[in-house]
Amino acid sequence: MSDYTNHAVVLKQRPQGEIQDGDLAMEERPVRAPGDGEVVAQVLWLSLDPYMRPRMNDAKGYMDPIAIDEPIVGESVARIVESRSSTLKVGDLVTCYSGWQEYVTFPADAPMVYKIYPKDKVPLQTYLGVAGMPGRTGYCGLTYVGKPNAGETVVVSAASGPVGTVVGQTAKKEGCRVVGVAGGPEKCRFVVEELGFDACVDYKAGNLETDLKAACPDGIDIYFENVGGAVTRAVAPLLNEGARVPICGYVSAYNATNIAEVETPFHVLKALDPVPEHRFFLVTEWQDKHQEITNTLTNRIAAGELKYRETHAEGLESAIEAFKGMLKGKNFGKQLVHVAD
Ligand code: NDP
Repeated sequence: MSDYTNHAVVLKQRPQGEIQDGDLAMEERPVRAPGDGEVVAQVLWLSLDPYMRPRMNDAKGYMDPIAIDEPIVGESVARIVESRSSTLKVGDLVTCYSGWQEYVTFPADAPMVYKIYPKDKVPLQTYLGVAGMPGRTGYCGLTYVGKPNAGETVVVSAASGPVGTVVGQTAKKEGCRVVGVAGGPEKCRFVVEELGFDACVDYKAGNLETDLKAACPDGIDIYFENVGGAVTRAVAPLLNEGARVPICGYVSAYNATNIAEVETPFHVLKALDPVPEHRFFLVTEWQDKHQEITNTLTNRIAAGELKYRETHAEGLESAIEAFKGMLKGKNFGKQLVHVAD
């Protein structure tokens, strides 16, 4: 064992519905001393992402469930503090899947470990947000599954979050009319006034169907699905012939007690005639383009072209409450935890 004092947030029991006290706990955990080719990294920023909630369930999705007593999975920006590797040296910055903890030991050539080459005007934590996994998700899902054409109408839900932010601003660059869906007037104002979308519908305002119809007078050519539920049902009748629906996620169902009983976007879309082109995708389908797309996104941030918002929680101990809040939309933009400097 090494000498670092490490805290980790671990899964104590599987949440039934919303996360309750006692489901997750912060505990002191040892840090394994590095072997040949391994490094110890200190987590600086931890990313909180909706996918972590389904992984707390005992159901195999596209990834294995988190084991009881194991740290919650998660990606971070981390600094190498000890190295027995020739490829990563002390002081290097990386993104890696550290889990929710302060220190982690891993092989320098482990999958999904990427060295960060810092750029001016690109804050480190954006490598977890609009320049990171969610940003690449929005970019790839729109570009390769949505296949936008100039003049088309693109609707994206969870519009003020990191995925939606990149989807909308990328679609604007392609010459599309872009309509966001977000919760509350403040988020909707930000999406239009700062991110430059053409319109944003507040799904909490009580007139979702009529407001969405008014915002999409020519129907919808691409619906980028992030949330499911009532938003999908309101979108469905407005989809044009030839419409594409990249299914990225459906966060409205992630706290469901039994996710197998939830009406998913697949149920809603398959009931339409004609059935629109739709498929679930994973950002890892384009893992070979990781560096190229990261460069595209960081260049856009540095140029001031790609705008975004972030919510920072302070200290690992604040991660649980911040995560619970994010699943209810309490975050405004990318939810991060600042763990160390
Ligand atoms: P966000 O930061 O946007 O956070 C989630 C947002 O979802 C909340 O802020 C809230 O925004 C919205 N939301 C929560 N509950 C509801 C509800 N009942 N109805 C409508 N909206 C709701 O998340 P991300 O940008 O990180 O992720 C967006 C989606 O992308 C998620 O579904 C996620 O699982 C998915 N994803 C998929 C990947 C893939 O490879 N397929 C990879 C990464 C992300 P508001 O206040 O506006 O309601």
